[in-house]
Amino acid sequence: MSNQDLEKYADKLKTFPLGRDVNIMEVCGTHTTEFFRSGVKDIFPPRLTLVDGPGCPVCVTPNDYLDRAVEIARRHRAIITTFGDMMRVPSSYTSLLKEKAEGVDVRIVYSPMDALSIARQNKDREVVFLSVGFETTVPTEAVAVKQAKLEGIDNFSILAGNKLTPPAVHALLQAEEVKIDGFILPGHVSVITGIKTWRFIADTFGKPCVIAGFGNRDLLMGTLLLLDLIEKQQPVIMNEYTQAVTEEGNTRAQEVMAEIFELHEAKWRGIGPIPGSGLKIRKEYEAYDAQMKFPVKMPPLKEAKGCRCGEVLRGVISPLECPLFGKACTPQTPVGACMVSTEGSCAAFYKYKGF
Ligand code: SF4
Repeated sequence: MSNQDLEKYADKLKTFPLGRDVNIMEVCGTHTTEFFRSGVKDIFPPRLTLVDGPGCPVCVTPNDYLDRAVEIARRHRAIITTFGDMMRVPSSYTSLLKEKAEGVDVRIVYSPMDALSIARQNKDREVVFLSVGFETTVPTEAVAVKQAKLEGIDNFSILAGNKLTPPAVHALLQAEEVKIDGFILPGHVSVITGIKTWRFIADTFGKPCVIAGFGNRDLLMGTLLLLDLIEKQQPVIMNEYTQAVTEEGNTRAQEVMAEIFELHEAKWRGIGPIPGSGLKIRKEYEAYDAQMKFPVKMPPLKEAKGCRCGEVLRGVISPLECPLFGKACTPQTPVGACMVSTEGSCAAFYKYKGF
């Protein structure tokens, strides 16, 4: 698309005639930040609001997941391997960063395969990978477990905290706590799941949605397409990310995920338990399940006082409505998970709203 065309569509969005207040929700941490970074949010027409949903995997991971990881590291002297954005997330009493400063062996990795390499190099130590993410990261985690079994690596395990986005959207729609007129759906998750996994939004709940990519053009076109569907009252799903998303998704990735993981009820920060929204390791692979391998006595669960991450993640309030935002809670002094992760809604508001 030429710059001239982009400008034409930007003008179209700016002047889109909305005869009422319209709320659209995105459920992807990358969309949360890209809507800000691209400037597309700045050219929304009056009466259009973008509501951030539970799209940041680190943010929706409840405190007890990190509490367990810390207990495993302390009690079993395991090497904890994790993506970097988990380091500063507050657990009930501490964070991985604080634990590392206290001498706990926490290492940042870029892939579960890196964690597997650490296990190969440290045969006398247990290596636990903190597996937190949505459908996009699960296939690689499944491959790491398969590879560990193939090579007979028995000092590697994962603490499964993976979640699936569609059941969370279903739970939000069922709760009817927030008025949502349509959804911008994540392109990368849809590459794996396919369009079919989202059809319930239009078919059962009568809400239009658009699967969108992450570039300026994708966000612009995705928003315009969605507004058009909303105004025409057409509850259908459209795919703006046609270069990568198909009806069935990546069936090979789905197969490898299903071989290692099975669905279970997972707990989401701010939403609570959602049936079929989490992935746990199948019995055949339980030797690689850190929760089974390392029983620990869990400390009492504690939430940060005054933090309203739960309401932010359900789209009930904007981060700006949290009294701690920008005062007690900043990216340098995060009180809640939504201020830590680069994909968190509070962090994005802080960065792009000029704080
Ligand atoms: Fe939680 Fe901080 Fe966001 Fe408030 S601003 S909801 S304390 S992360």
